[in-house]
Amino acid sequence: MAKETSLTPMIRQYQQIKANHPDDILFFRIGDFYETFGEDAREASQILGITLTRKHVGKGQTLPLAGIPYHALDAYLRKLIQAGRRVAICDQVEDARQARGVVRREVTRVVTPGTIIEAGLLDDKAGNYLAAVARHHGNWGLAYADLSTGELTATELAGDDARAVLLSEISRVAPAEILASEEDWELLGPGLAALLGGGSAPVRTRVDRGMVRHESARAALLEQLGVATLQGFGAEDSPAAIGAAGALVTYLRETQRRGLSHIGRLRLYSVRDTMMIDAVTQRSLELTRNLVDGGRSATLLEVLDHTRTPMGGRLLRAWLLQPLQEVDAIQARQQAIEALLSQAPARRQLDEGLRGVRDLERILGRIACAAGNARDLAALAASLREAPSIKAALMSLGAGRLGRLGDEMQTLAALADRLQSALASDPPVSVREGGMIRDGHDARLDELRAITRDGKGWIARMRAEEVERTGIASLKIGYNRVFGYYIEISKANLDKVPADYIRRQTLTGGERFVTPALKEKEELILGAQEKINELENELFESLRGEVLAQTAMIQQLAAQLAEADALASLAEAALRGGWVCPEVDGSDLLEIEGGRHPVVEALLADRPFVANDTLLDGRDSRIWIITGPNMAGKSTFIRQVALLTLMAHVGSFIPARRARVGLVDRIFTRVGATDYLARGQSTFLVEMTETANILNNATEKSLVILDEIGRGTSTYDGISIAWAVIEYLSGHARRRAKTLFATHYHELADLEGRLKGVCNRSVAVRESSREITFLYQIVPGSADRSYGIYAAQLAGMPAEALERAREILFQLECQRRSPAEADGTPPASRPRIGEIHDIDLMQLDLFGSILPPVLEDLASLDIDRLTPLEAMQKLAELVRAAREMKG
Ligand code: ATP
Repeated sequence: MAKETSLTPMIRQYQQIKANHPDDILFFRIGDFYETFGEDAREASQILGITLTRKHVGKGQTLPLAGIPYHALDAYLRKLIQAGRRVAICDQVEDARQARGVVRREVTRVVTPGTIIEAGLLDDKAGNYLAAVARHHGNWGLAYADLSTGELTATELAGDDARAVLLSEISRVAPAEILASEEDWELLGPGLAALLGGGSAPVRTRVDRGMVRHESARAALLEQLGVATLQGFGAEDSPAAIGAAGALVTYLRETQRRGLSHIGRLRLYSVRDTMMIDAVTQRSLELTRNLVDGGRSATLLEVLDHTRTPMGGRLLRAWLLQPLQEVDAIQARQQAIEALLSQAPARRQLDEGLRGVRDLERILGRIACAAGNARDLAALAASLREAPSIKAALMSLGAGRLGRLGDEMQTLAALADRLQSALASDPPVSVREGGMIRDGHDARLDELRAITRDGKGWIARMRAEEVERTGIASLKIGYNRVFGYYIEISKANLDKVPADYIRRQTLTGGERFVTPALKEKEELILGAQEKINELENELFESLRGEVLAQTAMIQQLAAQLAEADALASLAEAALRGGWVCPEVDGSDLLEIEGGRHPVVEALLADRPFVANDTLLDGRDSRIWIITGPNMAGKSTFIRQVALLTLMAHVGSFIPARRARVGLVDRIFTRVGATDYLARGQSTFLVEMTETANILNNATEKSLVILDEIGRGTSTYDGISIAWAVIEYLSGHARRRAKTLFATHYHELADLEGRLKGVCNRSVAVRESSREITFLYQIVPGSADRSYGIYAAQLAGMPAEALERAREILFQLECQRRSPAEADGTPPASRPRIGEIHDIDLMQLDLFGSILPPVLEDLASLDIDRLTPLEAMQKLAELVRAAREMKG
């Protein structure tokens, strides 16, 4: 930085302020620009693509400078925030015209990725979360807040798996920014790094250990929530959750430096109340983001989301990621959907009403943070206007959840009236330039407006009055810059001048006078616009105060509207898709008749989706091994079952003819390739990590979806692992999860009959000479061919290579069969596992059969006695043995 003494006073002021914000890019307001200096300028010019120049800052000294026009702040902020930067906004806090010396400046706000409230920077239908983690005697606490809506939520995680659950919760919440102390960051370690390594990784902010400490955090919370104890929120026994929530509040106060009155509640939740959806499952089932570009298209959320309001959209998204675990709660949603479907007029009335409702939560958030404007108030008023009709529609829906929402709904009609009568019909964005308040709302304002509108008319009227009073017909009222308004009387009439006229100027032909009334009016006329702006701002502030006084009521209404909207959205999805209500109970059954994949079905434009049945019962039909050609529909089917199960737990209807779904505690998935390469992890290692997670954590109540486990390694390793996984899931007393296992290892079909609960299913195809037709029908039994070459043909592989592949395949198939069979006709059956001793190793490598010693080893395992760790060690041993044998 330049030499102190010779710097201009403004730059010295800049330096003082910057010293308090070493890690932030400081936007320093100078007139109509926000300027950045020094390193900030270099960085800003790079990220924002704006010109870097130099500013003269004192005798012979310059500094790098990059600036943006103040009115373009939002657009530039977005880029910096997306680049993971924090921006301190330093404004001029006094009128430059009245300033003595350098204008006073202060940082009015620090914008960080987790503290955005500007509508243009937010996704309407997703929360923008700032999260914090804290530890207290081995427990982990997680809190997350959305400054734009005022939501503040926390949970306490105890037990051995607390850290794993914490990571899973973080991935569900998908915060834009996470706060933690240095120590806690270290403890979270590589797990978090892997979790956060993806495209939309949150910014990590280190905070002081003191900030997450229970006592200080609790004190900050009590102050923010305006309470003497956290008992009312059920939080006193959750010290780690308090640590995290308190740290959030402290951080928000430090960065926002303005009202946070909309954060007035703490919601404490338990992860046990909802189905845990870990990061892998959330991603691989493409619940809210697709695997292609991370967008919403072709996701389950897209199919389900017909919400009309942003709050409803956000709530539905939250529901999807937190499926319920209580039959009653699920049935309450189902009943609401049913009521909506059976009563079309009420459904339409509700829909129409909701279409007129704006984002009440975020409007209130902006108003509370002093960033709101008259448009926000007008949008609030317009939304409140819809409430009575929505309430009536809900009440007509009977005694269920929606009816109750209608009964309890307070429409805040008085506030709506008040706002509507006060606000102009199309108020401006600025709160400083008038035009916000309706005529007739305030007598002072009306008068001021009358003056500006009719300044000349008023003068003319005064002249007429004065002519009449004095009897001087030639009396004139004029204006000049020096004297302002004056009354001019000709010499001949000077004797008639009334006593209250004050002489100001003598001219050759007459004299000029003023009166107190004229001067008063003059001041009014000249200062009117300024006064109008001030008065309107004052009136706006008072309306803002009236709105904030009803914060809790507005938030409650917003929550009710959001719930009605989310339920209506599920009804709409059910109606459009022709879905049915699944029977959800505590049984061990997963029975789906005529199930369809909700997303794939919606995407198939030119042909119908083929429905399929599923019956998993936790006993004789617990593990389905699904074989079939490439592209036959295996993956689609197993994902479909997972999605329908999840939807049933959300309370949604599902695309099926009929379904009975026993409660599932978790859905585990290991499917498809994902974006791990970008994170520098081997695909196979990730596959094994995910599989290990399943074997360690699945329960009898879980649903496990496995797609081609073991494909990422050699055939021997792959089959060994797949085999051991199935055996583990079928034999382990505590891990007997319902499982769908799609595979190309046809050898695994031999497990049916050998392991209890294992059944073979395959996807039917019709074969004719060199073509096959996919039927997409799941049928009993196993497939015996992969038709990989056919897939290669469809993919456009050169004819020569295809022909060669067919030759090789034929040769191999001949070798594989006994000499008596090797006559060129298609093989009648595959070798059974017991027969594979006869096949030489080269064939094994190609055909992927099992190594006998590995099998022997497996057969001798007593699965019930193995701990998860031992199981994994055993698995590793098997893999090693398989590799050694392979040479
Ligand atoms: P691979 O083994 O090569 O991974 P797969 O057997 O897992 O293939 P999918 O990816 O599930 O096959 O399905 C391939 C395509 O077939 C889907 O993208 C979809 O277009 C279509 N399909 C799958 N199931 C059905 C169905 N039930 N009805 C209609 N079309 C279907």
